[in-house]
Amino acid sequence: MTKLLPPGEGSRLLIDGKLVAGGAGVFATVNPATEEVLGQAANADAADMDAAIAAARAAFDNTEWSRDHAFRARCLRQLRDALRDNIEELREITIAEVGAPRMLTSGPQLEGPIGDLGYFADLAESYEWVSDLGVAKPMGIPTARTLRREAIGVVGAITPWNFPHQINFAKLGPALAAGCTVVLKPAPDTPWVAALVGTVIAEQTDIPAGVINIVTSDDHQLGAQLVTDPRVDMISFTGSTQTGRTIMAGAAQSLKKVFLELGGKSAFIVLDDTDVAAAASYAGFTVCVHAGQGCALTTRLLVPREQYDTAVAAAAKSMGGIVPGDPNEPGTVCGPVISARQLERVQRYIDIARAEGGTIVTGGGSPDRERGYFIEPTLISGLSNTSTVAQEEIFGPVLVVIPHDGDDDAIRLANESPYGLSGEVWGTDQARIDHVVNGVRTGTLGVNGGIWYSADAPFGGYKQSGIGRELGVAGFEEYLETKLIATAQK
Ligand code: NAD
Repeated sequence: MTKLLPPGEGSRLLIDGKLVAGGAGVFATVNPATEEVLGQAANADAADMDAAIAAARAAFDNTEWSRDHAFRARCLRQLRDALRDNIEELREITIAEVGAPRMLTSGPQLEGPIGDLGYFADLAESYEWVSDLGVAKPMGIPTARTLRREAIGVVGAITPWNFPHQINFAKLGPALAAGCTVVLKPAPDTPWVAALVGTVIAEQTDIPAGVINIVTSDDHQLGAQLVTDPRVDMISFTGSTQTGRTIMAGAAQSLKKVFLELGGKSAFIVLDDTDVAAAASYAGFTVCVHAGQGCALTTRLLVPREQYDTAVAAAAKSMGGIVPGDPNEPGTVCGPVISARQLERVQRYIDIARAEGGTIVTGGGSPDRERGYFIEPTLISGLSNTSTVAQEEIFGPVLVVIPHDGDDDAIRLANESPYGLSGEVWGTDQARIDHVVNGVRTGTLGVNGGIWYSADAPFGGYKQSGIGRELGVAGFEEYLETKLIATAQK
């Protein structure tokens, strides 16, 4: 097996089936755990992006890709299997470039989303592409109606750095299964993990030229170019709410569809009929996974006021026991954050919490390590839900504990947020749990530790957490158009 990234060599772009250098040279990709330059990635320029869009357009317009469902299913399974053949090299690069804890690479940071490609291959085969609406007599004319679902066209996929494989494949899988062609613009912080998938596609699959194009760049403007180009039919974006706004505005000129997975500030609601200490301990643990760099993590812990001290003590104990460490180590849960910029951002929010009168119960700074972008799991008490750290997304291992005065107050506080991505409810009485689930306005909710994430389960946000759903049949249908054919009957 050829090495995807021969030692000393950088990654390349995938444009029109060929692996090519970037018009703007190269840019460095950095190991966030060591601050060392891992190597170089191809740096695309506007002409490269233009060529990628042209290739995707041509592959969509001039080939049978969008109509040959069986071929696409075969290509998706072939891609899944080829990625599995290269899994150990992909794993080491994912740990090094993303700072992803090794234990997560057997799940959501690598192997999980690769396996999920099979779900979308199955869907391409089993989906009801054509359905019969029967004969009706609109305006007195007997008419047979046929409903057809067709691929939307060229998709521009723009993705962030936190779970890059998960997010890249959650777009590539359904878009390709639907019959679209794609230009993927990954985050500047994690170019290699996307580019190496491009190498696998080019060298080890039959996916036709132009169907997938992968354009790495250190320039956000290449994303903006994708958004405004009229040859692109849809933008599928995951990232910050602020960038989502910019993308929606940019897409308005060509009136293309936007699908947005954005930020979150999700609430973990603990009812007073459950073991509050156990719930708080679990909440403290989950917010530390991958150094808190998960959009759907529950970063506000809402607990019964009379058990506030119990909850704070339990969360502090679990968070204080998690030492940020080398993501290579099999036992590490909390590795580094992605960059110096992100580290400064998290530290700035902790400083704001102090300035607003909050108490840092545990953590609050960087651990005693010589290198790497590490931050201690940090628990904040003594602030209200309107404080900055309770309202704004931090994207670090930071949890704020807020008291509530009963189930309705907990619902009110959970919804007192511009976001509506996810949440968690812990309780015993099913009627009370149902009442809270009904009241909270978010796209996913876990109950007593249930896991909502799965290839067949739609994920996405209410309010400013996004538009549309990723994964599941709903996520697949985001990439489809609807065509109705009405044939007059004799
Ligand atoms: P970001 O918004 O800064 O960047 C995301 C992507 O958008 C990158 O590829 C970037 O190059 C590109 N981009 C930036 N400006 C652009 C522009 N003007 N036009 C087009 N593209 C542009 O986000 P980030 O810092 O990389 O990621 C962290 C954010 O992502 C967090 O807010 C997090 O909540 C969110 N996120 C959301 C989900 C979800 O599913 N809801 C999942 C993961 C991350």
